[in-house]
Amino acid sequence: MQDLAQEVKRLEPRIIEIRRTIHQNPELAHHEVATARLVAKELRSLGIEVKTGVGGTGVVGLLRSGKNGKVVALRADMDALPLQEEVDLEFKSKRKGVMHACGHDTHVAMLLGAAALLAKHRKQLGGDVKFLFQPAEESGGNGGAKPMIDEGAMENPRVDYVFGLHIAADMPSGVYGVRGGPFMAKPDAFKIRVIGRGGHGSAPHRAIDPVYIAAQVTIALQGLSGRMVNPIRPFVISVCSVHGGTKNNIIPDEVVLEGTIRTFEKNTRSKAIADMRRVVASTCEAYGGSCVIDFQKDTYPVVYNDEKVTERVAKTLRRIPRMKTIRADPRMGAEDFSRFQQKAPGTFYYLGTGNTSKGCDSPNHSSKFKVDEDVLKYGTLSLASLALEFAN
Ligand SMILES: [Zn+2]
Ligand SMILES: [Zn+2]
Repeated sequence: MQDLAQEVKRLEPRIIEIRRTIHQNPELAHHEVATARLVAKELRSLGIEVKTGVGGTGVVGLLRSGKNGKVVALRADMDALPLQEEVDLEFKSKRKGVMHACGHDTHVAMLLGAAALLAKHRKQLGGDVKFLFQPAEESGGNGGAKPMIDEGAMENPRVDYVFGLHIAADMPSGVYGVRGGPFMAKPDAFKIRVIGRGGHGSAPHRAIDPVYIAAQVTIALQGLSGRMVNPIRPFVISVCSVHGGTKNNIIPDEVVLEGTIRTFEKNTRSKAIADMRRVVASTCEAYGGSCVIDFQKDTYPVVYNDEKVTERVAKTLRRIPRMKTIRADPRMGAEDFSRFQQKAPGTFYYLGTGNTSKGCDSPNHSSKFKVDEDVLKYGTLSLASLALEFAN
């Protein structure tokens, strides 16, 4: 561990340089062309076998050890968000309205750093290491993990363990956040068309007002979390978009509500969805309206950290100097890292980057999101350490 910690310090300037290049040239989900090119070039320069165009813009690197121990996969996502950056950095995004506000630029840079470390320590590896650079984590049910898996990213050689990390602005710099079991939620996106009958704003009695009904529906849905779902089972329902109407005195024909449900368990989820359908339909009916409810199909599974593997992960991370490993809370956010975990056991963990003294205190997905770059080497060190530990 000590020599790895020394070496990562030498690599640090390069990791930061790569991160800044990607940060300055962010690419949206499914369009990570230049990022993928940079990744492939960097991997090749390290003597790592590279496959490009895997599941779209995905890149798979394979570092062969020449031994037949376990195969470890390390994953980073590459996409940015549709957001105008509001931080004045010397390497501020050059693309208007596109920003790496979730830290995926750092994920790519840290994983390339780990590839460099591991390539140098190839002889110490007991098995092969795969590097999965995936497109489009941010694209909802349409994420890049599934097409990569469908195109064989977890086979040849078959992956035994998979690991990934995420930068977390709400955890302090110098901390790894780890936890076994369910770690991130399953998201279900919904769309409700509340159908009424339009008319004049001065005569609501001659119309069926979908604006009023949609407001009732929005409030009624919160009764699910308060009154219908077992309070010890994690559950969130949020209506996040309301659209309807054209003018102050026209009652529209319909209003469209969109939102998301988050759950960890099958039973909680199916009961919540059944409750929701009933509450929405009966609320609409009570006021003379009707509705159509649609759920997005095939959404991300729960991020589930294998308990035994995660215990070993925590033990490994605790050996890293100057870092603290804490038990992180589960989150209601979602991640398609879970798709890789359905093919091989593994762990998703957080790397804290919150640092008020450096102005790194805005949350992920904020236009003011800023990363404490001093933590990047520790991300690299953690990924490389896990590969060495689990391949042997
Ligand atoms: Zn994100
Ligand atoms: Zn993210």
